[in-house]
Amino acid sequence: MDAEEFRRQGHALVDWIATYLDELEQRPVSSTVAPGQVRAQLPPSPPAAAEPFEDVLADLDRVIVPGLTHWQHPSFFAYFPCNSSYPAILGELAAAGLGVNGMLWATSPAATELETLMCDWMLELLDLPDRFRSTGAGGGVIQGTASEATLCAILAARERATEGRSNRSGTSGRLVAYTTGQAHSSIEKGLRVAGIGSDNLRLVAVDDRFAMRPDALAAAVAADREAGLVPFFVAATAGTTSSLAFDPVPAIADVCRTERLWLHVDAAMAGIAALCPEHRWVHAGVVQADSYCTNPHKWMGINFDCDLFYVADRAALLAALSILPEYLRTAAGDAGAVIDYRDWQVPLGRRFRALKVWFTLRADGPEPARAMIRRHVDLATEVAAWVADDARFELAAPPALNLVCLRHVDGDGATDALVAAANASGAALFTRTVLDGRSALRICIGGRTTERRHVEAAWKLLQQLS
Ligand code: PLP
Repeated sequence: MDAEEFRRQGHALVDWIATYLDELEQRPVSSTVAPGQVRAQLPPSPPAAAEPFEDVLADLDRVIVPGLTHWQHPSFFAYFPCNSSYPAILGELAAAGLGVNGMLWATSPAATELETLMCDWMLELLDLPDRFRSTGAGGGVIQGTASEATLCAILAARERATEGRSNRSGTSGRLVAYTTGQAHSSIEKGLRVAGIGSDNLRLVAVDDRFAMRPDALAAAVAADREAGLVPFFVAATAGTTSSLAFDPVPAIADVCRTERLWLHVDAAMAGIAALCPEHRWVHAGVVQADSYCTNPHKWMGINFDCDLFYVADRAALLAALSILPEYLRTAAGDAGAVIDYRDWQVPLGRRFRALKVWFTLRADGPEPARAMIRRHVDLATEVAAWVADDARFELAAPPALNLVCLRHVDGDGATDALVAAANASGAALFTRTVLDGRSALRICIGGRTTERRHVEAAWKLLQQLS
């Protein structure tokens, strides 16, 4: 493909994306393909010669799109949202066009400096504590996912707990971490990757709202110290995946301060609600956290991947992750005058993610995201009332923000059958989870184009299938 053809096909592709998004509502939310069906429609071996790009686009329509779950569909109520906006899509395209790798400040100063500024802008928009601001000892970085952010938090915590010896052999063996059974699986995965291991993760008891009990945390820490172990890391969740439970971060932070434990707050989806001043309670206690992450790619329309990761003191993070081979040395880095984000993450290379944040904040401003969040929260409040009014259903957890968890009163079999039938209909998509040992159906309202009529239709569907 040459530059002229790129111009022509690029316009065609942008048109294709706009039409896809415009007409998405008419498609089933999820795919009905059988395993292997997509691959079977494509040649087993790579092409020997170039093909017209029109043919590639035609196959996108014919083979790929029918094999997709449409995350941007207004009737997507599954998992947590992963919504995108037009400026963010253009930011992604611009990043691909520029093709830079911002691993060091020197490999693209603007990539690093825009990223630092975007983290500071987002800190203001989310009203996060000043100690996470890049102008002090802390700072922010854009990671791909919350899972990567959590892993980095664990590595920094381990560095601090071992007094700078985390990368020496034999220093991690007695370290113990704490979270709850409601926390995201990425906490345990991070501990596995860091070599701490699942056996050294304690699942602290939760209360009847699925939130961590600080007294149980304190007791677990005391028991581990008594056994000669070294408690080092606590992951609190602001908005759990199953039920959007909020761990009591202020009380957990008190335990962490007394016990000198690193406190990481995972606010993957719910943290974005703080764009709206009335929802800033989601960040209660975060001012005492050592690290924090939230995902604009979940609820802000900045398309995947985009996770904001902040630390209050970057020293431990850099000490844990910085290795300086000669080929990466630069004068600016040696002088300590710049941020080299390679030291803030696991990979060396990095995508220019800040562009899509910048494009979105400038081209849309923060108001559309605020309006969307408010609309979702209002709709979820209505759904919770509908559930309460229908004798066939009961709430499986206290509703919070944009998530309602319900179950069928006839028991797990009926709830599971309802999730399966609703999802098979293609008219909406939900996720099943387990709360209190019983099945539950989650309705998470997070689509950029989701309106009241979509939520009403989804509710009617659930009623009809019950
Ligand atoms: N933490 C929470 C609370 C989540 O709900 C999720 C995903 O839904 C994650 C972490 C993992 O997010 P990511 O895909 O960005 O790693």
